[in-house]
This record gives sequence, C-alpha cells and structure tokens, in this order.
Amino acid sequence: MPIVKTLKKSLYFGTQHHCPICQSNVRLFKPMHTTQIRLNAICPVCSSLERHRMMWLFFKQKTDLFAAHAKKMLHIAPEECLVDKFAQCESIDYLTADLNNSAMVKMDLTDIQYPDNSFDIIYCSHVLEHIPDDAQAMRELSRVLKPEGWAVIQVPILREQTYEDLSITDPQQREQLFGQSDHVRVYGLDYKERLEKAGFCVSVMPYLQEFTSEERKRFGFDIEKDDIYFCTLH
Ligand SMILES: [Zn+2]
Repeated sequence: MPIVKTLKKSLYFGTQHHCPICQSNVRLFKPMHTTQIRLNAICPVCSSLERHRMMWLFFKQKTDLFAAHAKKMLHIAPEECLVDKFAQCESIDYLTADLNNSAMVKMDLTDIQYPDNSFDIIYCSHVLEHIPDDAQAMRELSRVLKPEGWAVIQVPILREQTYEDLSITDPQQREQLFGQSDHVRVYGLDYKERLEKAGFCVSVMPYLQEFTSEERKRFGFDIEKDDIYFCTLH
C-alpha cells in the first residue's frame, strides 16, 4: 500500500465509519461541496464518494464481476478509487476509456472504436449527462455489449422528466439549470425509457434500500436515492 494511504488510514482512524473500497475504518467522511453540501461524502483515505462505495458493494454482492470465469470489462471515465480494484482481479480483462487522455484508451462514446459484441461488462457512471447526443452513446454501448453481458449505466436523476436544451452553452446557466457547469441536461425518471430505446432491457434496482440506517451511516450512504440501472440485451 502506498505510504500516503497508510498515513491517512492512521490519521483518520476511527470506529464510526468504514470504507468498503479501501477497507479503512475511519472516524469521518469528508463533506462534498457542490451546489449543495453533502456531509459524509468523501472517504478521507481513497477519496471515494457515496455512489462509488455503493457500486463497489453492488458489484461484489449482486453480480458475477469477481467470479472466476474470464470476462472482458469496459470501464468508462474510470473513477480512480476503483481502477486498481478492477485491474487487480485476475479474471477481469480490464479496459478503461475516456474522451481525454486520462485512461488506457481514448474513446468517443458516440463512436466507439470496437466491434459489436466486444465486452461482457460495461460500467459507465455519470458520463451521459455530459454528452449532447446521449441516445447515440447509449446505442453504441448496447452495440459493443455481448448478448449475454450486462452494463451498469448511471446518471444523476434529479426530477420526474428529463430536461435538456442543447442551445444552452453558458457554464453558469448550465449549472443553474442542469446542476453542473459541464452538464448538458438533467435526467428524470424517464431515463429508463431512454436506455430501452437504445436496445437495453433495464432493471431499476433500489439497492440502497437494502441497507439499514446503521449500515448507511457506517458506509457513508448519506443520500436519499440512487437506484442502479442494470442493463442487459434481453
Ligand atoms: Zn476509502
């Protein structure tokens, strides 16, 4: 383990909270300042957020991601706190991709450079809200997924109906209307139908509800709702 992480583990040691990703027992999660302040958001050791810790437990408990059989995984816009965990798993042939040069390959989600049926698993979280033609990105994701594969495709869902206006390009206006200066829309509950139009069968899983209030506090799940969009092709 890198020395900085070891130091942080002892600096923030406590019994109140636990980060399942870096396996640290910590006395606090740090607050996250966006348009609103979220207390208990950031792990002080690995910098994971609530949704990263939730997804990590979901992958471990509810999927075959870490099963012994070989699988090819595409991780888009990879979250730093999760990259090593996936990369270290011997049964995962792991590929990270991003629009800029921060991943193993550079990839435009609306024009993926891989053939049909390339991946067993795709994980793409909080990316589509940045892409003007999200329908094309969703179609591309369904195209490169293998027929028996699965994908988890997450976006922030903040209202009933999706609201977008691609003519709005001013960062301040975007922040005001879409929640962040580089978002091009704010998704609603119709997100499921948008995925279905791209060819996915979608199970909306209220995974957070499976945790008791004590467990939520312990893992730093101080968020109301963050359903998991589990997508297959049939
Ligand atoms: Zn952590």
